[in-house]
Amino acid sequence: MIRQKRGRPLGMFLAVLFAAVWITGCYGGSGAAGEAAGNVWQYASEAYEAGQSEGYAAASYDAEELPEYDGRPYVELNGNQPMFKEEDLQEYSYEDYAPLDLLGRCQAAAANIGPDLMPQEERESIGQIRPSGWHTVKYDVVDGNYLYNRCHLIGYQLTGENANERNLITGTRYMNTTGMMPFENRTADYIEETGNHVMYRVTPVFDGDNLLADGVVMEAESVEDGGAGLRFCVYVYNVQPGVAIDYRNGDSWLDADTALPEQEARSRAAYIVNINTDKFHYPDCSSVEDIREYNKLYFWGSREELLLQGFSPCGRCRP
Ligand SMILES: [Zn+2]
Repeated sequence: MIRQKRGRPLGMFLAVLFAAVWITGCYGGSGAAGEAAGNVWQYASEAYEAGQSEGYAAASYDAEELPEYDGRPYVELNGNQPMFKEEDLQEYSYEDYAPLDLLGRCQAAAANIGPDLMPQEERESIGQIRPSGWHTVKYDVVDGNYLYNRCHLIGYQLTGENANERNLITGTRYMNTTGMMPFENRTADYIEETGNHVMYRVTPVFDGDNLLADGVVMEAESVEDGGAGLRFCVYVYNVQPGVAIDYRNGDSWLDADTALPEQEARSRAAYIVNINTDKFHYPDCSSVEDIREYNKLYFWGSREELLLQGFSPCGRCRP
C-alpha cells in the first residue's frame, strides 16, 4: 500500500522508487567461495570498497518520495514486496554493511541470514558508539525514559553484529520497539523454526543533510520457499509520540500534540497480531492487553492478507 503524494500517478511513484533502489549481486569469485564453503560468509563491503562491487547493501531512497507519517508506526511499501535481485537470494549466508557516508551516517545494511549467522552469546555494551544525531535525553512519556536508542539496523538477534558503527543509528524507543522489533522477531522465529535463509535489508532514510533518519525501510524474503514463509517491505517511522524532534540534528522537546496521530491510528487499526503466537485479534480483544509491546504488530490491512502471511484468528474474539 503506497499512499500517493502530490497527486503523482502510482506508476511514476513506483518507477522513481525502483530507480532510487539499486543493488548488485556482483560478487565475483567470492560468492562461489562462500557457496562452496557452506557456512562461510564475508563482508561484501570489502569488495565494495575495493571498487569491485556496488555491494549487496547498496540501496537508497528519497525521503521526499516516501509516505509521510500519519500515526501508524509503519506503512507497507511497494505492495509489501521487497526489491531484491534474483542473485541476492542465495542458500548460503552473507552480510554486508555499507560504509558511513561523508556526514558519518549509516547507509544500508543487508544480510542473507541463516541459522549460522545468529548469535550464541549475550550482547555486550554498545555505549561507545555515537551514531549521527545522537543525544542522551530522557522523558517521562517515553517507555524506559530514554528517547533515543542505539538502534541496530539488522537486529542483534539476527546477525550478532553488535558494536558495528555501520549497523547502528539513532532511533527512537518507539521505532525500535513498536516499529522494528515485531518484524525482527518474525524473521528470527522463521529462521529458527525452518533453518532456512532470509534475505534481509534495512535502509535508513535521511532527508537532505539531516543527521537523524526519518525512518528505515525494512525488507525480507525467505529464500528456500520463495518468500512463501516470510516476505515484507515496510517503512518504519523514527518518531516518538509525545515528543517533537528536529531531524536536522536530533534536538527534541515535549509536545503532546505529536501523540494524537498515533492514538488516532491505533484506534483505527483493523487487527493486532501477536508475533509470538501468530494469532491475530480485534484491537478490543481482552487478550491484547497481555501481549508484550515488542510482540504486538499493528495491522491496517485485510483479514485475507493476514491469513496469507500465515497468521490465524484468535479463538476468543474470532476476527
Ligand atoms: Zn482475540
